[in-house]
Amino acid sequence: MRKNLIAGNWKMNMGPRETEAFFEGLGEQGLSEPKKTDCLICPPFVSLMSATARKVATPWVNVGSQNVHFENNGAYTGEISTEMLKEVGCTYVILGHSERREYFGETDEIINTKTKKVLADGLIPVTCVGEVLDERKADKHFDVVETQVRGSFAGLSDDEMKKTVIAYEPVWAIGTGETASPEQAQEMHEHIRNVLKSMFSDDLANAVQVLYGGSMNPGNAADLLAKPDVDGGLVGGASLKPDSFAELIRISEQS
Ligand code: PEP
Repeated sequence: MRKNLIAGNWKMNMGPRETEAFFEGLGEQGLSEPKKTDCLICPPFVSLMSATARKVATPWVNVGSQNVHFENNGAYTGEISTEMLKEVGCTYVILGHSERREYFGETDEIINTKTKKVLADGLIPVTCVGEVLDERKADKHFDVVETQVRGSFAGLSDDEMKKTVIAYEPVWAIGTGETASPEQAQEMHEHIRNVLKSMFSDDLANAVQVLYGGSMNPGNAADLLAKPDVDGGLVGGASLKPDSFAELIRISEQS
């Protein structure tokens, strides 16, 4: 039985002080440790230590980064390594978000290299895939996502793939207020599982958590999470406030 994962992607929002205030607020939401939901917050690099230090009231919230470099150290100005992330208490890393693909030139090949590096160093990758609007309009979305899945996870062992989280994020739904319908999400998640079946095995495809991302919020989460192949959400805007993040966790626990 797969657990859900409710993951907050804060993007370039929330400095250290706002992060401290968020975790204080989250501690006041009356949540107890979720039974069937893993929880994750991914702040900007400079706020990671505030997050790991201030999650005292909610120690079950994992902390992750939004990116990492694939080398251990060296002359890579502006980059961060897996060891540095582990030192500040990170356990997850978001990889290949559409904003990194679009603005920072990340390709499936780079994302594949990063996914392998993150797994080799004992962190959990949340690797993102998803089509842009023109690709959906041209009815190419299944092919586009299949290519991304095959490219991003090429050469992973079964053991590595089992530890990987996939986030399906239709780019047209990210930060737009427009959500994929639960049916659109379900058919793509099922498609992703079928691609995994052909790359790995049925058992493995059924074990991997596949999250939906794209304007998920407390108003639409229940219908999305009710779908059999939707195992949680990668959430931007609605993860920035303790009350809506807490509400998403409650909805997931009831799904
Ligand atoms: C995201 O940042 O991955 C995302 C899905 O953002 P939003 O929930 O704001 O659409």
